[in-house]
Amino acid sequence: MESVFYGIAKDGQNEYEKNLIEQANYYYKDIEGKWKWNLDVDGIYVLKDNIGKTPFAKEKIIETEIGEMKRLSPTSMVHLFSQHTHKQFLKYAVISNNPVDEINKADKFYAEALKSFEKSKSNEAIYEIDSATQKLYYVKPLYLTKQCMECHKRKEDTLGSLRGGITIDLDARFILERTEKIWNNFVFVSLLATFFVVFVIYFIMNISKQKLYYLYENIALANSLKEKVTKLNKVLVASGLGYWEWNLVTGEHSVDEQWLHMLGLNRDDMKKESCDWSERIEPEDAKRIMPIIDEAIEKKNPYVVEFRMKHALGHYIWIQGSGGVTDVDENGKAIKLSGTHQDITNRKLLELEQQNNTGYLNTLFEKNPNIIIVTDGVEIVKANDAFFRFFDQYDSLNSFKQEHKCICEFFEGGDDSAFITSEPHQWVEEVFNSPEPIAKIVYKKEEYYFAVHAKKVYENGLLNIIVTFNNITDIYGLRKRFEELSIVDELTKVYNRRHFNEIFKEERNRAIREAHSFCLAIIDIDNFKLYNDTYGHDAGDNVLAAFAREANAMTKRSNEFFFRLGGEEFGVVFCLKTQEEAIDYLESIMEATRALNITHSHNPPTYKFTISIGLAYVEAGKELELTSIYKAADEALYLAKKNGRNRIEVNTL
Ligand code: GH3
Ligand code: MG
Ligand code: MG
Repeated sequence: MESVFYGIAKDGQNEYEKNLIEQANYYYKDIEGKWKWNLDVDGIYVLKDNIGKTPFAKEKIIETEIGEMKRLSPTSMVHLFSQHTHKQFLKYAVISNNPVDEINKADKFYAEALKSFEKSKSNEAIYEIDSATQKLYYVKPLYLTKQCMECHKRKEDTLGSLRGGITIDLDARFILERTEKIWNNFVFVSLLATFFVVFVIYFIMNISKQKLYYLYENIALANSLKEKVTKLNKVLVASGLGYWEWNLVTGEHSVDEQWLHMLGLNRDDMKKESCDWSERIEPEDAKRIMPIIDEAIEKKNPYVVEFRMKHALGHYIWIQGSGGVTDVDENGKAIKLSGTHQDITNRKLLELEQQNNTGYLNTLFEKNPNIIIVTDGVEIVKANDAFFRFFDQYDSLNSFKQEHKCICEFFEGGDDSAFITSEPHQWVEEVFNSPEPIAKIVYKKEEYYFAVHAKKVYENGLLNIIVTFNNITDIYGLRKRFEELSIVDELTKVYNRRHFNEIFKEERNRAIREAHSFCLAIIDIDNFKLYNDTYGHDAGDNVLAAFAREANAMTKRSNEFFFRLGGEEFGVVFCLKTQEEAIDYLESIMEATRALNITHSHNPPTYKFTISIGLAYVEAGKELELTSIYKAADEALYLAKKNGRNRIEVNTL
């Protein structure tokens, strides 16, 4: 070896050499850092498929939460690293004069270097620049641990014989070209210096604007790249994105500050706890996302996944992870995966809450005991379980729709004005317009009554109506029965026609039995149609109620009864000894009516609310049919009307 510069690394001979040694030292520190860290965590895990066979001890396949992983000893890791770096611009190697594996046997310069380490016990790096291979060889003693010793002991090695090292080979052509010539040939150097000065003068004098421009452009490009990287960093920080890189060869995972911050970690935590960030992923989520990531690695596609990760404080946070392969080896195999993490916990919680609400509403809809349908007014869009329990011959909405266009086909009108009718498009409006709408549904020849409620909802700009049908068949039947049993008129709260029929008969029979006179008066309000027309139906109702209250108050004795016979017709059943007494009594009712002093602009000549009365006076001892008595009273009333209203006419029988 002719021109070899050999020495302690820190004594680099010149600037170029020092630079190169500094570079090698930098790589050494890098691999030493990884090596130590790897020892601290007692070996690292890497995906089983991502490494080739290595001959090193302590390499075990271990089943973890994310599948089978390979546990690498620190030596294996450095070996892998050296294999990888060898393909690049530098070469790492672990060497020893007594290696466990022959691969690690030191050769040439390195064997000499290791011997010198043994002798000197120094930790200083040694270097050599070989002009034949045009390389810098750099070696530094290896950091040895108990574990290393345990393994080597099997080969009966002693610590002294084991002083191995980490070597770094770097390309030294650049230095050799300059240093050899400059330092070995002063004349040449002087000439070169002169030539250089001439060249510089020539360069300055001849440099074209164009060249200056290119020079400037390159500097500008470098600056703009630097600026872009700075900006990108700012964007990452501002958008709350944590950046990570995953070396698929070594299994090493590096992250930025933002990533750590998201999980409440600091760098030391990462080293202490685990080199394997995936251990922080919620196990179920890990099972779900790992195949996606594996596939992305294999196909070299980008991916986006959402999963939970354990925060330093023990709780889970939701992360959106995006990533993709950012580096491949010469065979096109992925060797690096990079990406970002974003904390999406808030959004995820909101989403989950919404999902829960929707689930809750769906259950309310489906399991509600009342029939609920969603309709556009004609077609049913959606129907709940209760709908199909009722219309039990249909098991799906389609089967129902094949036979019926609208649920309203089942509606029937009736004596009650609250019933909604059967017109498509109209029935929903009817539901909205009536105060207490009822649907009378006839299904399989049975009658059912439903209280109906409707609510309009706009979904995606479309109008839908949610209609609930509350089955009140039982209650409705009871109400009907109650009405049948009732003797009181709903509006005026006086006895109704049904009760009149009974009392009329009873009192007539008593009069016959007791042989006393008997009276039936029919009262009809004058020009009441015109009253309604002028003041409205509601005002008419109020007047009917007011009049009935006054007249009813005049029938206090035990044998006096006041009835609403229907519409604006009332009846009084009573017994007074003489016809004069009877007329006086009815006059008092007329008087009480006048005292109400209700204006009626279409009832001349008084222009007040008035009544006409027809009286059938049945003398004592007369036995007459009910219909005859009624007819006589009606005829007297007709006469009262005919004779100008606001008067009493009598038919004596
Ligand atoms: P007349 O003096 O000849 O009896 O004239 P009238 O307008 O009172 O008689 P008609 O039989 O032509 O009209 C009776 C009116 O009574 C018709 C109807 O509007 C009104 N009516 C019947 N029942 C009610 C009710 O419960 N409430 C209200 N507000 N009006 C009623
Ligand atoms: Mg009438
Ligand atoms: Mg009338």
